[in-house]
Amino acid sequence: MPERQSSLSLPFDGQLFINGEFVESESETRIAVENPASLDTIGSVPDGTKADVEAAVAAAKEAYEKRWRPLSARDRVDYLLAVADAIEDEFEAFVELETLENGKPLEQSRSDVSEAAKTFRYYAGGADKNHGDTIPEKGELFDYTVHEPYGVVGSIIPWNWPPMHTADFTAAPLACGNTVVLKPAPEAPLSSVKMAEIWADTLPDGVVNIVTGGTEPGVALTSHQDVGKIAFTGHTDTGRKVMESAAQNITSVMLELGGKNPNIVLPDAPIEDAVEGTAAGLFTNTGQACAGCERLLLHEEVADEFLDAFLEYIRELRLGPGLDPDVDIAPLANEKQFEKVTDFIALGKEEGATVLYEGTVPDDVGDGYYVPPVVFGDVDSEMRIAREEVFGPVIVVQQFSSVSEAVTIANDTDYGLTGAVWTRDMRVGNRLARSIDAGIIYINNYDNGTFLGAPFGGFGRSGIGKKLSFKETFNEFTRTKTIRSRIASDDLTLLDDYY
Ligand code: NAD
Repeated sequence: MPERQSSLSLPFDGQLFINGEFVESESETRIAVENPASLDTIGSVPDGTKADVEAAVAAAKEAYEKRWRPLSARDRVDYLLAVADAIEDEFEAFVELETLENGKPLEQSRSDVSEAAKTFRYYAGGADKNHGDTIPEKGELFDYTVHEPYGVVGSIIPWNWPPMHTADFTAAPLACGNTVVLKPAPEAPLSSVKMAEIWADTLPDGVVNIVTGGTEPGVALTSHQDVGKIAFTGHTDTGRKVMESAAQNITSVMLELGGKNPNIVLPDAPIEDAVEGTAAGLFTNTGQACAGCERLLLHEEVADEFLDAFLEYIRELRLGPGLDPDVDIAPLANEKQFEKVTDFIALGKEEGATVLYEGTVPDDVGDGYYVPPVVFGDVDSEMRIAREEVFGPVIVVQQFSSVSEAVTIANDTDYGLTGAVWTRDMRVGNRLARSIDAGIIYINNYDNGTFLGAPFGGFGRSGIGKKLSFKETFNEFTRTKTIRSRIASDDLTLLDDYY
């Protein structure tokens, strides 16, 4: 691997970010952050507490009332654009930090950091265009609506795309006039803390705050009475707990959760494209993608041809550290995920699935959370390996003999995040897209690179609400108020009585 010139100073020992300042937690415990490709510690953050959340929410509330809500929407546009510029100014440092704390190949970190900057620009563009309606035809009355912020938004994010998740759940609420308390994942909090260095220079104090840590600050945020909205991205089981906790104060929740996404290949599919697309859907971020394809549904007429080509394609993929520019599949992002994925692989074997392919870890990659790809055949929909989200480079193969059977298998899941269809007949592709019960459908692609501008969110236990879309996401971060107003009569002569 060629020597890289680093733009980062390590170890990166972060602090909480409250009211525009970097401060220590009242707890003295710190969480070490590991490079999953070497197991070296690259930094640490405070293990934040309930008291830290209290301080952060108080700062966000004051900033909302005194410094952010009073601004015109136009002023907020300028602030968000300044954040986007500053992320781009430090582009390579963010890229390297993400690959170090999350493991993913540099090229994927580049796309993520670029997306984070674009997210601030995108929502800046909507900040001054979030108008309400007027509702006429009420005689002397007319109604109009305004879209008002919630106040303090509690944003809780996972570790799989740290800069992008940070941007998603800060830029959109800020653009709508809210202030934010952000809780990053304990496994990969450094990109968020680095983003705070930018906010310290570009945003008014207290407008965004960060409390690092694990479950304690998460629960404190979701149950806090001064938090008006919870924006959560993470596992479905955690989403359920978040919803229960938020129910105490009837706090509105937006949940972006997991998936077990079906990828359907029909006999007339463009096989080469389908093979490459399936591999992209499976291996982007080493399978740690909510939208990734974990279920491969093959029509029996094309199953052998597809599988031969797919396995040949996988054999060529290189496993190694994300800092190596020639690597296709990086290590898993952390120890917890490594254990989970290896347990699922063992479970699939115990359940009686046939291992159609299992790669090996190259000798020269050293220590790291490496898990080579696994393809399981002879899988039925009742097996846990076919029902539960693995979040790794593991795919199960099922066969079908008719389109309706494919739809039945595809929809036999509690989740409903994404689905994909491969066919040369767009009528069939679009018909299937309407039949699969999921929030996002790919036809003849599995491009989960960028969705900015297109609503992204799941059905069923994959979540509530949409991110990445001005139109739908601004509905999430504002409340509609109806104002009924009396106007003068249509009969102008009646006005003469007033004067
Ligand atoms: P996770 O649910 O374990 O953790 C997510 C966040 O919640 C972390 O910050 C964690 O500290 C916090 N948390 C944990 N317990 C909490 C509690 N009781 N109350 C409040 N917060 C709590 O998920 P993860 O392992 O970090 O991420 C992987 C999951 O995220 C996968 O299921 C994946 O599908 C999902 N995900 C979904 C999307 C989407 O857009 N739908 C995107 C990325 C990841």
